[in-house]
This record gives sequence, structure tokens and C-alpha cells, in this order.
Amino acid sequence: MTSIADHIKKYTEEIGNYQATLVAVSKTKPNEDILEAYQAGQRVFGENKVQELREKSETLPKDISWHMIGHLQRNKVKYIAPFVTLIHAVDSLRLLQEIDKQAAKNNRIIDCLLQIHIADETTKFGFSYDEATDLINSTAIDTLKNIRITGLMGMATNTDDSTQVKAEFDRLKSFFDTITSINKPNIAISELSIGMSGDYKIALESGSTMVRIGSALFGARNYH
Ligand SMILES: *Cc1c(COP(=O)(O)O)cnc(C)c1O
Repeated sequence: MTSIADHIKKYTEEIGNYQATLVAVSKTKPNEDILEAYQAGQRVFGENKVQELREKSETLPKDISWHMIGHLQRNKVKYIAPFVTLIHAVDSLRLLQEIDKQAAKNNRIIDCLLQIHIADETTKFGFSYDEATDLINSTAIDTLKNIRITGLMGMATNTDDSTQVKAEFDRLKSFFDTITSINKPNIAISELSIGMSGDYKIALESGSTMVRIGSALFGARNYH
């Protein structure tokens, strides 16, 4: 059986060829699995539940960068604001305002990605392209001194049709390219967070700078 450490080495090398970052998605996995990945050199981990993220950050090594990759409720931002490195799935101005407020309380600037709804599915969160454009150009965003928008995140349709997945990623990449030149104090677009275990190769070909990989590293998740 291939170990977690072997997976980390293999994926780090493959993803490194694209100068992209590997976010090891450790949700539902025990600390011992995370430590095995850590000992293999992995330092960036992603979680999608606030409480689990907080508990793991308190017990695991302090030089881990913790990314919140899941849907985030405003009333829970305060629990992760002291330490979170990057919030991937910002999907409203009100959430951004709350992150700004909690970041200020912690004397921090918190990096955020805007989640764009790119899938052909109604269940997923995120801005439309028009909504994201309006937000980026708004004056409301200019007043938020304790957040920085560093890029975009998207989740493609869960389908075996790689042509469709590629089209969804490519469209997001084109939008990303149109906003990298925006010059505002709290907007500096450089990260494109696309790609998971099933579609990371397509995402890397489309210009991903950050892939979020869970089950391919740690094995399938058991939800109880
Ligand atoms: C769980 C999750 C992932 C990783 O999914 P895998 O298919 O296990 O690689 C990536 N992104 C988000 C937002 C997730 O919730």
C-alpha cells in the first residue's frame, strides 16, 4: 500500500512542475495522518469545518498554514480569524465585511479568494462573474483595510465529461486574467484555486496556481 508520505512526494513533484501550491485537504482525517504528511514536508492544509480547523490548529505544529476551503458562516469567522492563512470560499460582501472586522480585532490582514460559481449545478455557492466584477469595482470593498483579495476559487461540475470541466476552468482562467491587472490597495489577484483529486490535472493545464487535494492523498473519507 502506498503511504500518505509517498502520495505527498508524488503530488508535490507533479504539482511543482506547474509552480502550483498543493493544499492537502485533511478534513475528517485524524492528526496522525496530518503528521505523516507534515513529516513528508507538507505545510499547507485545508479544512472545511470551523470547529475541526480550530481544534487541529491548536494541537498540530505551529508552522502549518491552515486554509479554510469550505463554506464559511459569518458568525464563525471569529474562531479562525486569529490564525487562518487563506479563506478560499468568500461568497458575499457581508462575509468579507465580517472577515475584515475580525481580522482588525486580531491586528491582521487576512487573505481571501472570491468563490465563483462555475459549475452547471445549482447547489454550489459562489458569485456569478457579473457579481464578482461588481464587487471588485465597488467602493464598499475599498473601505475594508484588513482583508486582501488575492484570487479566485472555483469548483467544476462533478462529471466524467472532462471537456465540460476544462471549459469551466478555462472560462474562470480568462476572467482571472482580466482582473490580475486591477490595482487597488486590498486587491492583488495572483491565485487561482481550482482542481481537486478528480480534476487537478485538468485544472493545472488550465492555469491553476493552487490545487486542493484530499482523497488522493489521504484515502477516501468516511462520513459518520
Ligand atoms: C473536500 C474538498 C476538496 C478535496 O476533495 P477531494 O476530491 O477529496 O480531493 C477540495 N475542495 C473543497 C472545497 C472541498 O470541500
